[in-house]
Amino acid sequence: MPEKRNKGSLFIVSAPSGAGKTTLCKKVLSALPYLKFSVSYTTRQPRKGEVNDREYTFIHRDEFTGMVKKGDFIEWAEIHGELYGTSKRRLEELLAAGNDVLLDIDVQGASQVRKKSREGTYIFILPPSLEVLKTRLEKRMTDSQANIKKRLKAALSEIKEYTTYDYVIMNDVLNDAVRVLEAIVTAHRASRKKINPVWIERTFFPKEDT
Ligand code: ADP
Ligand code: 5GP
Repeated sequence: MPEKRNKGSLFIVSAPSGAGKTTLCKKVLSALPYLKFSVSYTTRQPRKGEVNDREYTFIHRDEFTGMVKKGDFIEWAEIHGELYGTSKRRLEELLAAGNDVLLDIDVQGASQVRKKSREGTYIFILPPSLEVLKTRLEKRMTDSQANIKKRLKAALSEIKEYTTYDYVIMNDVLNDAVRVLEAIVTAHRASRKKINPVWIERTFFPKEDT
């Protein structure tokens, strides 16, 4: 592992369901060291291939509302009839270990994080068109036709929120979109305010032994 030369940052990624955010994030997470995924809690059922505590921690609604009451979430939202939330403890642990953290959350969650934290890079993923979005949802075969209709209806109001994000990536050709997301994270890491001054001190101005 290369030495970590900067302080941990938050990358908040939102998109309408089916835009390809999960696919895109998985690729970038496996390519970049020190970038970790914050595993959310949800009340929705696991999809085929999803593993508990990897994509999500799948819990019952009463457990979720208990966690809300205890203040366990930095943000949470009801999306398409199910509850989703980001654990404060998980996020703090990942940052404390020196990682950058990627939050895959919806526009309501992103707005809550924005209000609580001055830091954070906000990235919005767009599908090339509504038709393509519909095709992707259908091809994924994880949602009923009624669910797909719900998600497409929600997509337009979510897309309107793009103006509150720092970056917009159109996910047309997957590998092009992956490169753009990697570039955003990489460039942010090199920004002067993120560089750890201790590393510069130690490397270029080491204290003489007395
Ligand atoms: P989201 O997490 O945004 O809901 P997914 O990552 O599950 O979306 O992607 C939805 C579907 O679209 C999946 O079947 C995925 O394989 C496919 N997909 C994602 N990105 C692309 C792309 N650039 N081109 C074609 N298909 C894509
Ligand atoms: P899906 O059910 O397709 O995995 O996700 C539906 C939506 O929930 C996506 O927009 C995803 O970004 C969002 N989501 C996933 N985890 C969280 C979370 O912890 N908080 C919020 N607010 N949204 C989440």
